[in-house]
Amino acid sequence: MSETIALVGCKSPAQEAEYLHILSAAMPEEHLAPFRTMGPAERTAARIAVVANPDPAEVAALPGLVWVQSLWAGVEKLVGAFDRPLPIVRLVDREMARTMAEAVLAWTYYLQRDMPAYARQQRDRVWRPHAYRKPSDTTVGLLGLGALGTAAADRLVGAGFRVVGWSRTPKAVAGLDTVHGADGLTAMLGRSDILVCLVPLTAETRGLVNAARLAALKPGAALINFARGPIVVTEDLVAALDSGQLAHAVLDVFDVEPLPAESALWGHPGVTVLPHVSGPTDMDSAAATVATNIRAYRRTGRPPSGVDAARGY
Ligand code: NDP
Repeated sequence: MSETIALVGCKSPAQEAEYLHILSAAMPEEHLAPFRTMGPAERTAARIAVVANPDPAEVAALPGLVWVQSLWAGVEKLVGAFDRPLPIVRLVDREMARTMAEAVLAWTYYLQRDMPAYARQQRDRVWRPHAYRKPSDTTVGLLGLGALGTAAADRLVGAGFRVVGWSRTPKAVAGLDTVHGADGLTAMLGRSDILVCLVPLTAETRGLVNAARLAALKPGAALINFARGPIVVTEDLVAALDSGQLAHAVLDVFDVEPLPAESALWGHPGVTVLPHVSGPTDMDSAAATVATNIRAYRRTGRPPSGVDAARGY
């Protein structure tokens, strides 16, 4: 029997029991235990922590830890959170990419088919058709071409949308117009009818979607933010909606979650609020991914490649 793998940061005992059950079934050769039930010797011997949203102090109480496997794709809260450099392996999972791509396509259709306008009209009992705009006449600007961005781009291109994707480094993706760097971003914004945000939250991307960048979009464009709240400057977003520069925003992520009851976003007619549901972790699929990573580590003695701490993702 190898040492115990610590499960850290579940939000409730029920979630802890569920995760433990699914992870143990995916790797029956391993022994997993919730951090809180582990004794001192078990904590000292632990080499791997599987974490959801952990208290860094609990991770610090595992002194022999070699690496951390996140059950989430976004790990901005873990980068630099521990008292020593620890490889952090984020979740890269096919099922999550599929779910996120589906959400991007669904909400892109929602905007392309003028659903926010029809919802407002229904409230006012107004019968007024709007001109149909084909997907091939609709350009989606995609911020981020990583695991989730490329899956989303694939679905959008398959549905006939024009897609321009932006990344930090140059990228070639079949069927996709790609840009990078500051100039590439400006050019992309000027072409975008719908801007989709799927970059990680880092020092560079915090506040990326600000007044100037919203003003650079086509007039009457729309925004989908499925990445992290602080990438978009909320007050600039509200100003762009109020001026009509932005027609609508679909927001799944916020500066503070759950979105506080007093937030103006709840009642803003130009905003659709979603409770962080665009790309949920599918535990069956995630557990298989985690088991593959852990087996590779047992075989090679090397942790899987993790987040680049300097880049922040
Ligand atoms: P990846 O790390 O695979 O991809 C990140 C992409 O963003 C890459 O293309 C990267 O460029 C690009 N990028 C990063 N920094 C910059 C920058 N400064 N300028 C330009 N491009 C940049 O991440 P994922 O696709 O797996 O996930 C993206 C984010 O989605 C997560 O970090 C998380 O915050 C969010 N998420 C949200 C969920 C939800 O339910 N709402 C669920 C899961 C994730 P390059 O290719 O050049 O490296």
